[in-house]
Amino acid sequence: MMLLADTLWIVDQAKILGFDLCGLVRAEKFPELEQMPDWLARGYAGEMKYLEDPRRSDPQTAMPGIRSVIVCLLNYNTERPLSSDPALPIEYSKPTGWISRYAWGDDYHDVLRERLDALVESLRERFTEPFEARAYVDTGPIQERVLAKYAGLGWLGKNTLLLNQMLGSFFFLGVILTTLDLEPTLGENELPPPDLCGSCRRCLDACPTQAFVEPYVMDARKCISYLTIELRGSIPEEFREPMGNHVFGCDICQDVCPWNRRAPIVSTPQFQPRVFPAREENRGTSLPPQEESLYLPRLEWLLGLSEVDFRELFRGSAVKRAKWRGLMRNACMALGNSGLRPGMTDHGRIRSLVERLAVSEDQVLAESARWALSRIQ
Ligand code: SF4
Ligand code: SF4
Repeated sequence: MMLLADTLWIVDQAKILGFDLCGLVRAEKFPELEQMPDWLARGYAGEMKYLEDPRRSDPQTAMPGIRSVIVCLLNYNTERPLSSDPALPIEYSKPTGWISRYAWGDDYHDVLRERLDALVESLRERFTEPFEARAYVDTGPIQERVLAKYAGLGWLGKNTLLLNQMLGSFFFLGVILTTLDLEPTLGENELPPPDLCGSCRRCLDACPTQAFVEPYVMDARKCISYLTIELRGSIPEEFREPMGNHVFGCDICQDVCPWNRRAPIVSTPQFQPRVFPAREENRGTSLPPQEESLYLPRLEWLLGLSEVDFRELFRGSAVKRAKWRGLMRNACMALGNSGLRPGMTDHGRIRSLVERLAVSEDQVLAESARWALSRIQ
């Protein structure tokens, strides 16, 4: 067992590398992990087969010889209104989509991975004995949120996310699994931070698709994040209207959470919304002739993107996970909910973009486009 001084050194080192918080925990089977098989058996994971990896229910099996997990937290709360903000500009003639806050800037996998790799390098300088260390950002057979709780970084809220009293929930988690036997951040008799949700149920009531089966339990198949990013087929009819203008992910159950009201804002350049500047040479192409942003992107712009444009513009962005056809499908749903009607300024132009998608050989895309056309007339 290493000394507490080593643990404090790792936490400090993580902060030097730019993480907001860091905690260490033994690789153990914590109570929440035991609920996973039942959650999967109920079918709540939908098409996310990777969640069925049995190693996710027991950190002891996540890596040979694993002893400890280092959990690092990075705030991405950039300064922009929340999706639930009533002051958000709504201009029906220029319908816009909502991209989840975490995906506005550079792909968080890359940003966190770089910092975690640097932390592993530091470990190699401090600890001279042979050891294994693997850094993961959402890619490991591990449930980061649960380990983060037992590393003392927060509690698991009714919206199923990790909440921290100071930081709210707009943060990413990255982990390092290691064979080093490190002293946990929480002492032997210390409990993880208490659940401060109390009698609040704002997230449960605000979810537009009623994805929470009960407090602390989500049916991911009903969640807009799943529907817009993970689901490859058609969006089921019953979720189309409730989806509103979401084209990639959803922030509502975080936006309404009181713990995010005073969450600190970050100015990390990589997490600011990507802006594509207006370029004269883009005129006549589907690349932006005017400035476009991933914060409330115009649906007309999104619907006009070719697959080649998509690959080019979303390189190094988390949005690429939805793939071009997923983003187009979602943009059709958002357009169908936009309230755009004949006679409004851009109606004709947007309609002709969707008509092109309606004759696509891709049946999911074609049907989504026809749905949008039926709604905007
Ligand atoms: S992300 Fe949106 S759809 Fe998913 S549970 Fe939260 S509020 Fe509901
Ligand atoms: S909105 Fe309320 S119930 Fe939901 S996670 Fe936040 S504090 Fe907990």
